[in-house]
Amino acid sequence: MICKNCSNEFLDDFRFCPHCGHPAQLKRIDKNYFLDELAQLFNLEKGILFTIRALLTKPAEHIRIYLTENRSRYVKPIAFLIITSVLYALFNKFLEFEKKAIKFETNETDIPNFTEIVSENYEYFSILFSFLTALIVRLFFRKYPYNFFEVFVLQCYLHGVEMLISLFFGVLQSILKVEVELTSYGFLLGFIYTFVITAQFFDKTKIISYIKSLLASILSYIILLLIIAISVFTYYVFFR
Ligand SMILES: [Zn+2]
Repeated sequence: MICKNCSNEFLDDFRFCPHCGHPAQLKRIDKNYFLDELAQLFNLEKGILFTIRALLTKPAEHIRIYLTENRSRYVKPIAFLIITSVLYALFNKFLEFEKKAIKFETNETDIPNFTEIVSENYEYFSILFSFLTALIVRLFFRKYPYNFFEVFVLQCYLHGVEMLISLFFGVLQSILKVEVELTSYGFLLGFIYTFVITAQFFDKTKIISYIKSLLASILSYIILLLIIAISVFTYYVFFR
């Protein structure tokens, strides 16, 4: 018999492929298949709710648990960031709370509107931004026993929560229709959350870790703006 997964040959009376564990005969799709799929869906949902609650109540502690003790109950960091970014983008598309918050508009029609490009590809930009922040934070806290990828996990989770905070304030803005820019407060609160929790993750007792974390956050934003500015410039000079 030839395995339908890895194409290795094995004996006919085997129920599973000895090379990769794929069943020799797939079970037919029936009621149990759908019950299984539903159960997996609910597990994901439970995982998301658990992860959100963990990251809102004791973020630094839970991320440390994820890194060193137990990963089974949490939604994985990149998945979490993608889910929250897509949620944010989806609500933003329908409620348009961001369009009202961003005051500057490019009046030249031949310059691509980069804020639009960013808001249409939030999931990629938030991963890119987490990556960038992780590099800089790792640089600022290089004496601590965490490698770049562990810091990247930290930043993915924190930026995911940032998306949720912005989403919450954006929705509130749309519901209340107040004059104050709630969306901007959301961004500010998200920014504060990320830099404070980053500091607490490394050492919550030292003031210097808050200062370093704040500097790292500001530097990340400056570099991101530079990257965007250089992209606009390059586009304008070479592709027009
Ligand atoms: Zn196989």
